[in-house]
Amino acid sequence: MEDVGDRHLLLVERWPISIFYRAIGNLVIPVTFLIAVSVIALNLQRLPPAPDTLWVIGPSVALAISGTLALAYNRSRVFFACITLAFCLWLRGQQMAPDFRELIIMGFVPLNFLLICFSRERGVFTSRGLSRLFFMAVAIALIIYLIELQWVLPDPLTDPLGDPVSLVLLYSPFHQVASLLLGISILGCIILTGFDNTPITQGLTTALGGLVLGYLLAVEHGWEIFLMASSVYMGANIIRDSYNMAYRDELTGLPHRRALNELFDSLGRTYSLAMLDVDHFKKFNDAHGHDIGDQVLQMVASRIGQVGGGGKAFRYGGEEFSVVFAGMDKEDAFYHLDEVRKSIQNYEMVIRKEPRQEQAEEPSGKKQRKKGSFRRASEKVSVTISIGVADRTASGQTPFDVLKASDEALYAAKKAGRNKVSMSS
Ligand code: GH3
Ligand code: MG
Ligand code: MG
Repeated sequence: MEDVGDRHLLLVERWPISIFYRAIGNLVIPVTFLIAVSVIALNLQRLPPAPDTLWVIGPSVALAISGTLALAYNRSRVFFACITLAFCLWLRGQQMAPDFRELIIMGFVPLNFLLICFSRERGVFTSRGLSRLFFMAVAIALIIYLIELQWVLPDPLTDPLGDPVSLVLLYSPFHQVASLLLGISILGCIILTGFDNTPITQGLTTALGGLVLGYLLAVEHGWEIFLMASSVYMGANIIRDSYNMAYRDELTGLPHRRALNELFDSLGRTYSLAMLDVDHFKKFNDAHGHDIGDQVLQMVASRIGQVGGGGKAFRYGGEEFSVVFAGMDKEDAFYHLDEVRKSIQNYEMVIRKEPRQEQAEEPSGKKQRKKGSFRRASEKVSVTISIGVADRTASGQTPFDVLKASDEALYAAKKAGRNKVSMSS
């Protein structure tokens, strides 16, 4: 295999725009959830009255349940978020300067959420988890100490920050340092959701949104409602994340064969199944390395995942994928599959070689760039896929028979020259 050292694959996408669209798409569920909770909070008077006990113990119980779930499933990020929210809950009942309270709940707590969102899953009772717990304990102790001192924010922290920051924050309901920290945290979380749509990150972002809304709406029991809702949402997302781990492929994020087999049980009379396989992928791996091969598989999977016609995509194994079209015959499925084939064929990628590789060693040991090698060497690449599709033609046929027929059609597509969609006869 050729030396593939320091190479980077650039998926040629106008990434800031695509990340923006992806973030919006990934935020649909959290935003809908928060709107639903806001509607409940704003219309609480119209609902039958709840017992006072609910408001007194409800948030703590909900946080305790999600925190325990987080411990049981070893999701340290949710665990730390629960501790942070529990601290906010306690803080709300304390006598302290309102500015200071605002700075903590709407400034430092969101910032802490942002750090949690960006951090990796490291476990709770590991050295990293325990050191994070230690830092949180120190920060909490410091805040408690300042509350005991009846500390008032010094002027520099409450004064307007000056243009242009002040202009941006002019309409914020919070004082400017809190607003700035809150703005950075919310923006950071939104950008993150463009890259990362895992249930845990989604749960954390939603909990931050819930915290802000609970504080901002200032309706009776709004705070308790949002805390309970955020805790339940994070807890539910721990379960979703565990489900994904069991049913989704880690590299591509697509569901894998176990999920496909389960779907087979629920298929009706009419459906088509397709098998998709990357062409000459072994050669691609040999030429560019397994890591770049993995990134290309992610790109291919993401395109297949966007198949139209309600097709549901699965990673069948290796560089093979399946698509299920419920209620659709193979002629209609053919059209949508051909669109996917074309979109992958037209997707141009650039492999960049780091300049470091092109540096020559001087006798003195110092590295020096070769003349004219200041530009990174780059190479345009693309891949193609072949597809076989079949539908259920006889009443005795099982989905496994149809899948076998689509595999035979795939073989025919390969034999016919690859980069083709072939229908079973
Ligand atoms: P054909 O056009 O006939 O499909 O040729 P091919 O080389 O794609 O077919 P073959 O099935 O012989 O090779 C599949 C290759 O896919 C072998 C393996 O190196 C590669 N592959 C399978 N899974 C992965 C993966 O998860 N990551 C990477 N990078 N490569 C994988
Ligand atoms: Mg193969
Ligand atoms: Mg292949």
